Amino acid sequence: MALRKIIEQGDPCLNKVCRQVTDFNPHLHQLLDDMRETLEEANGAGLAAPQVGVLRRACLVLDMDSEEYIELVNPEIIRQSGEQTGLEGCLSVPGKWGIVTRPDYVRVRAQDRNGQWFETEGEGLTARAFCHEIEHLDGHLYTEHIDHFLSDEELRAYLEAEEAAENEEGE
Ligand code: ZN
Repeated sequence: MALRKIIEQGDPCLNKVCRQVTDFNPHLHQLLDDMRETLEEANGAGLAAPQVGVLRRACLVLDMDSEEYIELVNPEIIRQSGEQTGLEGCLSVPGKWGIVTRPDYVRVRAQDRNGQWFETEGEGLTARAFCHEIEHLDGHLYTEHIDHFLSDEELRAYLEAEEAAENEEGE
């Protein structure tokens, strides 16, 4: 396994529609292994192949419940419901944050690294990560959904409000 360089906003790779994966070969497995290592190193919630410069429909998403990375090849969202509005960032837009509205629940159909189709689902932050990563495969970034990046002050206020809400829930 090897770390791959995460490319940043402005690189044309991030705005391209990626091609379907058709060969489930050692080359794909190497890519997914490298992406996992790169994602773990960056401590991120997800990573899509175009973020390491590979224009193929493959991504990894952190399942917040199991804390495992799920490999998704040729993924598509087949069901979604609800709505959530919250903080979102991207490893290709380092150090910046915005507020994005996403479905609160999504169900995804995808292939695994051997080409087997499966379905998975997530809600909350996991649903957000599915939407964010799958969007990358069509050349879209979350920044298209925001009107501005949060200032340091706005970010601090958001995090404080979230913490206060969590403390209230805990009582
Ligand atoms: Zn991203």
